[in-house]
Amino acid sequence: TWNNVPLAPEDSIFKLTATYKVDTFPQKVNLGVGAYRDDNSKPWVLPVIKAASQALFNDPNLDHEYLPITGLPEFTSGAARLILGGDSPAIAENRVCSVQTISGTGANHLGALFLSRFYDFNGPKQVYLSDPTWANHFAIFRNVGIDPLTYKYYDPKTIGLACDEFLAALASAPDRSVFLLHACAHNPTGVDPTREQWNQIADAMLQKGHYAFFDCAYQGFASGDLDGDAWAVREFVKRGVPMLVCQSFAKNAGLYSERIGALHVVGSSTEVAKRVRSQLAVLTRSEISNPPAHGARLVALILNNPELFEQWKEDIRTMASRIIEMRKELYRLLTEEFKTPGTWIHIVNQIGMFSFTGLNAEQSQALIDKAHIYLTTNGRISMAGLNTGNIRYFAENLDKVVRG
Ligand code: PMP
Repeated sequence: TWNNVPLAPEDSIFKLTATYKVDTFPQKVNLGVGAYRDDNSKPWVLPVIKAASQALFNDPNLDHEYLPITGLPEFTSGAARLILGGDSPAIAENRVCSVQTISGTGANHLGALFLSRFYDFNGPKQVYLSDPTWANHFAIFRNVGIDPLTYKYYDPKTIGLACDEFLAALASAPDRSVFLLHACAHNPTGVDPTREQWNQIADAMLQKGHYAFFDCAYQGFASGDLDGDAWAVREFVKRGVPMLVCQSFAKNAGLYSERIGALHVVGSSTEVAKRVRSQLAVLTRSEISNPPAHGARLVALILNNPELFEQWKEDIRTMASRIIEMRKELYRLLTEEFKTPGTWIHIVNQIGMFSFTGLNAEQSQALIDKAHIYLTTNGRISMAGLNTGNIRYFAENLDKVVRG
């Protein structure tokens, strides 16, 4: 048995981390991993999570019964308000269906599976992904029989948005195509559309009747502002673009291993939302029966308790501002101290956890081989891997590989 099973390649990011771990070089730097690190390169348990965990621990009524199939209601309703806004017309009109998922990955999967079963595709089952995108998007859609195509998103010449090409792709795709959009802090580029560009994207989507599949894995991380980072999603709801949102609490609550997320499908009426919900429950039942409770309880406490919510916002600002400081310092080091050839303004203009440095595969590999600085060979670095102790070492070596 299983003689015909081919060997699959290892996941490149997880492999990179494994190589970093066994490296004994004292100044080694890991810029591959998409997880927040504090200024001492350590994982950070948010103070608000410690407070919420304590509250849960002290709750005498807590039991370990199954949750409902669609998740903890206090969590899903709070999560919907967080992304869509407390004043969302769709929530007020009771036409949002929200289901708890296995973090953002599970939300993407459930959203994709739902589309595969029920979306009225205009021809073959296809989804348009940004080029580049989070690599897992390809696998997630293929798993449910939806063929991933790409649209031009990133312009290597400007290290910015290829807006015209993006708009052209929206215009030339068949009517009612599905476009996956990163709600904020695009992974891997760190390049987001401006509000004006989002409006142009919404115009094009409405004109063609396209469906927006929003993936929101970094709300609050991009700017430190939960509402600001949800702007595009809320604007699309306001403008009536048909859509769903995948939401993750891995990064903004530091709950990577709790696997807590949600899928929100915005329907055209209460009746539609009810039917969508019934089908999402059927799909969830067959895959995980019902979702895990711990992360949902923690996030529900934070979302429904004003004091904890304020504390969370403070913690998010702590993470976002450290990342923004690192961007500024890297820019300063490259332009002022090392006078590294090339323009580096994209380092401060990009948003969120990741930065596309513009380094090519050879230069990225040279950083790994010569300086023990680990990054993916597309030149993406996790800004959270930089700190006051290693940023000069990184800038110095970046300078060296650029000079060749
Ligand atoms: N979408 C994007 C764009 C991501 O970058 C990530 C995390 N790397 C996810 C979804 C899902 O993450 P998780 O399943 O840990 O919430």
